[in-house]
Amino acid sequence: MDRRTFTKLIGLLAMPSGKSFGKTLKNTNIVVIGAGILGTMIAYELIKRGSRVTLIDKNYPASGASGNSFSWINATYPKKPYSYNLLSQLGIDAYRSLEKEFHFDIKWNGSLEWFKQSSQQKNLVAEINEVKKYPTFTPVDLISKSEAKRMEPNVYFGNKKQIAYSKSDGALDTVQAIQMIQNKFERLGGESIFPCEFLKLNQQNGKIKSIETNQGTIETNQAVFASGINTDKNLGLNISSTPTPGIILRTAPVDNRFNRIIVGPGVHIHQQKDGVIVLGEQGGAPLTHIDRLKERPSIFPSKEFEQMHTERIINTAKKFTSGLENIHVNQVSIGWRPLPKDRIPIIGRIKKMQGVYVSMMHSGISLAAIVSKLISEELLENKNIPILDHFRPSRFG
Ligand SMILES: Cc1cc2nc3c(=O)[nH]c(=O)nc-3n(C[C@H](O)[C@H](O)[C@H](O)COP(=O)(O)OP(=O)(O)OC[C@H]3O[C@@H](n4cnc5c(N)ncnc54)[C@H](O)[C@@H]3O)c2cc1C
Repeated sequence: MDRRTFTKLIGLLAMPSGKSFGKTLKNTNIVVIGAGILGTMIAYELIKRGSRVTLIDKNYPASGASGNSFSWINATYPKKPYSYNLLSQLGIDAYRSLEKEFHFDIKWNGSLEWFKQSSQQKNLVAEINEVKKYPTFTPVDLISKSEAKRMEPNVYFGNKKQIAYSKSDGALDTVQAIQMIQNKFERLGGESIFPCEFLKLNQQNGKIKSIETNQGTIETNQAVFASGINTDKNLGLNISSTPTPGIILRTAPVDNRFNRIIVGPGVHIHQQKDGVIVLGEQGGAPLTHIDRLKERPSIFPSKEFEQMHTERIINTAKKFTSGLENIHVNQVSIGWRPLPKDRIPIIGRIKKMQGVYVSMMHSGISLAAIVSKLISEELLENKNIPILDHFRPSRFG
């Protein structure tokens, strides 16, 4: 057994020893609020373990960040501190295991990353060397430009001598994955209500009795909030930063041009197994524009704006690739990143609201498979799993 597998097993074996609170919740109707990648996977893991579950979304599945994400499953640079890195490594294993249940479109060929600016490139190299000191093996290496070129003939790596190669990374077709999980959730007897907007909690003696929605009242004593950028608003909390937008382009399927996730200057690119090329900008809107975009639109106000941004992103990408000839952009969307105040995932019970559990994070695509397994275990076995202790909402007071 290699060191990586060994230490991961140790981590996993340590989990069941978490503190248990007694009574299990299998017969409770658990309501999951938000049908993004996290809510859908949590609902699925709960029903698979024998719970009664209702999944609601104010719009429809994948209508939030998950449906407008670049969908890179990553566990390497810059996942800090170590607890976050380890959770992300376990996240990759959890996807591998979930792939036995679902035929997801995931290309597991790793990622190649470099920067144009020398200071950023220097930082990348330093960060990788730092990550390599972690107690568990992190599968990231610095490879030469010629090695990278052999892997990715359609990409120019400029004058950089070293390229970061994160071998275990993959890219998912998230919308398709959510559809698959959602379908199986319903086949297993799960109840979905879309559109259905959570409005408020009804509590009695500090415990949840039911939740109020725009479709009526749902009886429950356990609610899981996987509601992304609306978490603070839904629960009256103050644990998130202002969400930042990112533009995602999806092309019509073409012949194979990219093997790996290309994290180049200004733009990320990957190509799904079905031939669709996905491009995501790295920068996002300037802060002054974010104020103007208070309604968090997922589309542009006009075709002209959409065309202008599409061309900008493709032209940036063309500076380091020859794989974007004769493409047709089928979809342009704006996604809003759920951002915890300290950028570290927020996972756990809310102390002052008995029966309320929160799951909110950036890198939610990377973490959904592991986090949903752990959350369902915490809820149904009514315990605390130690590996999640680093991510509790209680750190915000
Ligand atoms: C441009 C972009 C690129 C990204 N790239 C990556 C990447 O490469 N890798 C990665 O790991 N992560 C990436 N992310 C982040 C990732 O997409 C998110 O962390 C993840 O999708 C969060 O999933 P979620 O299920 O928590 O939230 P969401 O997908 O936003 O789902 C939340 C759902 O809750 C619903 N909801 C909210 N309030 C209510 C209410 N009151 N009642 C009912 N329903 C409600 C919403 O309608 C929504 O559907 C990216 C994000 C963006 C925007």
